[in-house]
Amino acid sequence: MNIPLIRPAPPQLSLAIRELESIERSGIYSNFGPVNTRFERELLLRFFGGKGACLTVCNATLGLMLAIKEAIGRAPRGEFALMPSFTFAATAHAAIWCGLTPLLCDINRADWAADCSAEFGLLKQYAGRVAVVIPYATFGYPIDLERYERMRERFDVPVVVDAAASLGTCSERGLGFGSGFGGSVVFSMHATKSFAVGEGGLIYSADSDRVARIRAMSNFGFGESRTATMPGLNAKLCEVGALLGSLRLADYDRVMQHRAALFNHYHDALPECEFQTEAPGKQVHQFVPALLPSQLIDRRAVIRAKLADQGITTGTYFSPHLLEQPYFKEVCTAADSMPVCEEISKRVISLPLFDRMTHREVDYVAECVRKVINDMKHETREGTQGIEQQVPALFGAMNNPVRENHL
Ligand SMILES: *Cc1c(COP(=O)(O)O)cnc(C)c1O
Repeated sequence: MNIPLIRPAPPQLSLAIRELESIERSGIYSNFGPVNTRFERELLLRFFGGKGACLTVCNATLGLMLAIKEAIGRAPRGEFALMPSFTFAATAHAAIWCGLTPLLCDINRADWAADCSAEFGLLKQYAGRVAVVIPYATFGYPIDLERYERMRERFDVPVVVDAAASLGTCSERGLGFGSGFGGSVVFSMHATKSFAVGEGGLIYSADSDRVARIRAMSNFGFGESRTATMPGLNAKLCEVGALLGSLRLADYDRVMQHRAALFNHYHDALPECEFQTEAPGKQVHQFVPALLPSQLIDRRAVIRAKLADQGITTGTYFSPHLLEQPYFKEVCTAADSMPVCEEISKRVISLPLFDRMTHREVDYVAECVRKVINDMKHETREGTQGIEQQVPALFGAMNNPVRENHL
């Protein structure tokens, strides 16, 4: 078998000849044309109960840059952008392009997102110097946005949510992640995300004026016709991109359902691994992040090589985490210690998930993973007696997920 980590399957443009001809006839190719306008309306209704506003962008990285720039205004109240170290490079790059220094914090053991007390500690330590807080809704998990609304008020600091992998995640009531949030929430439609389009992104906010400002910023800062009245760049989604998005939306329920079923299958078939805590409502899944047993913390490369020998491609999102990457190490500031991020980043392995994957393929991957893990546990036990037995206190503490809530 040959099983890739991700097999992108955006909508087939070759099946949308009529829609493409219609774009050609209209002579409108970008600048918020009719296809894009309709797509934004569809997104708002489908995911956000029709309240607030949606703005498409050509990718989420530019979306983050715009949202951060809008949030901090012309005179940022500090030099730092507080974010978890366990996120994708784009989050930090976007802050740096806005002239800020990423201030990296630890994550929590349950949802693998920025830890509440870690954020709180840094906000106090760097009081008055944090210009914006940028939590990441890790792997589509619906982090608690009410907590960030409270943080916004209590510390008078704006919040931009990196929700790159979250388009489709919804609450038990069926409302899309981010609904009602007054700051900006930024989603990606990259080919590797579950809402796969190719390149594309979305900025949502319950605050329509905020979205209107960002819309002007995404079109060269033109607040008036061809006249820059604010900072700007070009981040517009073209009409063909918006068409692809509309087509993706049409069959997205089916796609999400299948991916969720495959994810649950993995979950049940791999009791040897630990998973992110289960989300209330529905979470969309980009791939399947799992933690290898803690006694195999130094064996991941060998495990991945053995799986590769059996035709299974895996990933290690996010390892290296931000502070382990040379550029970020040079330009970022970080908390004194980030034990949970360090550990999860060392243990995490990303397992294959894609739209056309079958349950048989999941069985195959899970079986191979179990076999490799169990063989290796056996070796470790015989070789070193198992580090777990040597430092039981440490591993006991690690396996005990505690969620603190200070805000
Ligand atoms: C994919 C991703 C991005 C970037 O999205 P693009 O649309 O590719 O620019 C940003 N942040 C996180 C956490 C991501 O996973």
